[in-house]
Amino acid sequence: MRDDLSHIRNQEDEERKIILAEHKHYMDSLFVQYPPLKENFDQADHILKQIISATFSKFKGEPLGAGIAALETRLDELMAQRLSLLKEYQLDPVALQPKWNCSLCQDTGMINQGDKYVVCPCAQDKRAQLFRERANLPLRIANATFASANFDLYQPEYRKQAKTNYAYVQEFCSQLRTDSGQGLFIHGTTGSGKSYLLGCIANNLFDKMSVRYMVYADFLDSLRATFNREAEHSEQQLVDEVKNVDLLLLDDLGIEKPTEFSLKYLAQIIDYRYRNLKPLVVTSNFTLTELIRRFQTDLYGERIVWRLGEICSNILELKGNLRMIL
Ligand SMILES: [Zn+2]
Repeated sequence: MRDDLSHIRNQEDEERKIILAEHKHYMDSLFVQYPPLKENFDQADHILKQIISATFSKFKGEPLGAGIAALETRLDELMAQRLSLLKEYQLDPVALQPKWNCSLCQDTGMINQGDKYVVCPCAQDKRAQLFRERANLPLRIANATFASANFDLYQPEYRKQAKTNYAYVQEFCSQLRTDSGQGLFIHGTTGSGKSYLLGCIANNLFDKMSVRYMVYADFLDSLRATFNREAEHSEQQLVDEVKNVDLLLLDDLGIEKPTEFSLKYLAQIIDYRYRNLKPLVVTSNFTLTELIRRFQTDLYGERIVWRLGEICSNILELKGNLRMIL
């Protein structure tokens, strides 16, 4: 989500400022202690500025100043002098660099690769961590992964189908993009492992996109809570968040009562995601046909059903009851 990323970027900028301020403080103290070192830095700065300005002249089509080679030679001399000064003062050259948390990107979160900039692995990790914190995954499925799925928990007759379905969903995740407009509809009885599968999907995708898990009935409760005058968020803020998250996981759709209130927001969310090609995964105790019958009570319901059918062109069924065994 855009908001999440700008939050990370602001935090990175603040951390960079602190590191740079600490570094300046350290360098100033060195310069007081070793004046020749300060002299060396000042001269090198001066030469560097002249080289940059000469290079810009070249870009502007002006002839390259004849003095540039001489400037570069002078800079080399100053660098050699700096090294010998450091040796004399028994200072480690590494100490002259700011203490970045990540030396790859100097805490900017981006690294230069040829002619383009890519996200640094350190920023990837931070992003994934933030997405994980904001996904709202219930504790029960917070650590669910495709690798840790235990098919022995299924009754023998359902095991093979569960395995096939998990493999299919894993493949779905590996292909999924934030603008692919793809969706999955997973139906099955209570206890057939649908929520666990949603946990696997979320954990598989945190390093690629923001994810939001929700049971629609609970979301309706949160919406109602915004009508309280002291509520922290407005109802539209909550709806916008769910509309805009990269991947929405709607668990147990259909357990809520299909009132005008519930269908109005569901229609808004699903319609928006459909038009903006945002992926959606829905699980339900009902089949899609049963949900259609349940929702087809008014205009909102019809829109939901039509859009759901369009987005969730992949339909899976999970069978079995894991809770009977657990
Ligand atoms: Zn980095």
